[in-house]
Amino acid sequence: MTPSCKAPTNSPSVVAGVIQRLSVSQLKRHKQCPRAWYFAKVLRLPEPTTGAQQVGTEGHAQLEHFLSTGEDVLGAFAKSGAHLLPTPGADLLVEQPLDGEPPLTAGGIPFTGFIDLVDARQLASDGVLRITDHKFTSNIARNAATREQLADADTEPGLQMLGYAAWALRQVERFPGLRELELEHLYYQTRGQRLAASVLASVPVEHVEREWRTKVEPQVEAMKEHAQAARASDVPANFGPACTKYGGCPFMAKCLTGGSKTMSLRDKLLNKSDLPAVLPPDAPEPTPVQVAPEVAEQPAPEAEQPAPKRRGRPKTTKPEQPKSDLRVLFVDCIPTKHDGPRAESLTEYVDDLHRKVAEAGGVDDVRFAGSDSPLGFGKWRGALAMAARAALPPPGNYVALGVGQSELMQVIVEALEPSFDVVVRGTR
Ligand code: SF4
Repeated sequence: MTPSCKAPTNSPSVVAGVIQRLSVSQLKRHKQCPRAWYFAKVLRLPEPTTGAQQVGTEGHAQLEHFLSTGEDVLGAFAKSGAHLLPTPGADLLVEQPLDGEPPLTAGGIPFTGFIDLVDARQLASDGVLRITDHKFTSNIARNAATREQLADADTEPGLQMLGYAAWALRQVERFPGLRELELEHLYYQTRGQRLAASVLASVPVEHVEREWRTKVEPQVEAMKEHAQAARASDVPANFGPACTKYGGCPFMAKCLTGGSKTMSLRDKLLNKSDLPAVLPPDAPEPTPVQVAPEVAEQPAPEAEQPAPKRRGRPKTTKPEQPKSDLRVLFVDCIPTKHDGPRAESLTEYVDDLHRKVAEAGGVDDVRFAGSDSPLGFGKWRGALAMAARAALPPPGNYVALGVGQSELMQVIVEALEPSFDVVVRGTR
């Protein structure tokens, strides 16, 4: 369960740059990208709900009802993991709020939220408490966290589970004799084959305390600082996988049109007069050039007005060549017979885009951007991908060759694929 989904209050979690309360979701969001967190929690920009979130919400509701009552209301996805669930019963803590004394805090800020499932059935005998979070995902093999990640607060899954574990540690009266925590992600696959899998990390209480003190507390201090930023551009951006995760960052356009170091990178990219197409989706429409309206030939009016006089030879209208609006990409293959315009090489487009991104980042080659560059630490990939998505090549047929040998080509082809109507890949 995403804790913020059931936050007990709708009051803002950040007021006038001061964080009032936190959730493990916020920690995860900030870890993923501090600037995206700033947009969502400090500026409180709305985020669209995705279809995947809807599936997750329904699945969670079914599991909650089943585990509390034993009544089988599980849909197809949740049912695939029924064998991995504990026997329903009133002793299970389902949708457990992060309440109790003392509250869970970091940097003096209290946490709110809910835990999907807390199972204390092994507590009295072995000192073990199991904490489970249900995860609905399109592909378990690709998206599931590892055991190591669940135990590491430097990762998003670890932040979440160690946050829940840290709450449990503070509930001494509720969980007496707690020695070890089993942190479990229970995955339900929502596409293709019906599958479920449990990933579980066992950690001693000392480990939880250490992770909280050495990783979470410093992160919250950074969040406090970021919350006070006057502009999004003053908050670090994490260009890279975070920008495309979960269907793409909803703040991408805003992120790219600010005025910071990274913004100026974008500005440099976008404000070039030779880049009219590279505009963020929410950029204002350019003011159209005003011209005198052309007097078109009108069909003969029905009554009083005489038909306009024609002089000279009647105009013949040349039939327009039908133009295709499709974008077609041939990756590592060449069409030998193909209706439509000749396929052009994508190389020129890639070189051009690379040159502009490199220029904007103040480097000769983005792949060698140093740690002092906004493109450093591999962030050039995210920047290049965004530049490609913002400046698609015009409709037509394109050939991308040597993709396996060129990282630049790889990044751009991956970025372009979702926007192309047809993608044909060659196989060896
Ligand atoms: S576009 Fe990327 S860098 Fe910008 S806020 Fe979103 S995730 Fe962060």
